[in-house]
Amino acid sequence: MLSITAAVEAALGLDWIAVKQRFNMDPADEDATTCATDTIWKYRYAHMTWNLNSVASCTNQQLFEVAVHEYVHVMMGPLKDRILPDEPWVVDLEEFVTETIARSILGLLELA
Ligand SMILES: [Zn+2]
Repeated sequence: MLSITAAVEAALGLDWIAVKQRFNMDPADEDATTCATDTIWKYRYAHMTWNLNSVASCTNQQLFEVAVHEYVHVMMGPLKDRILPDEPWVVDLEEFVTETIARSILGLLELA
């Protein structure tokens, strides 16, 4: 997992932010996310908490894609913290935008 997040950080040029990787063993269920990300943007710091039960069922390609998505969350941290309200429709919109940007990045990485 750490080699995948290091590869994503290198591909996206994210050496300006410190991202700590954490792991838990929460049971995987249909509502569990593979990774939860929190950003303390003003200090250029974030942490990602990976659910190892979910990680174990993913391919390396899927984990790379999840990692790109999570790093987009990191980059959007200031918007989430200061501008976007915590209403359900805004959370859904943030997820849509995050995934859209992540897919664009993945497409560009395939071209590189
Ligand atoms: Zn997300």
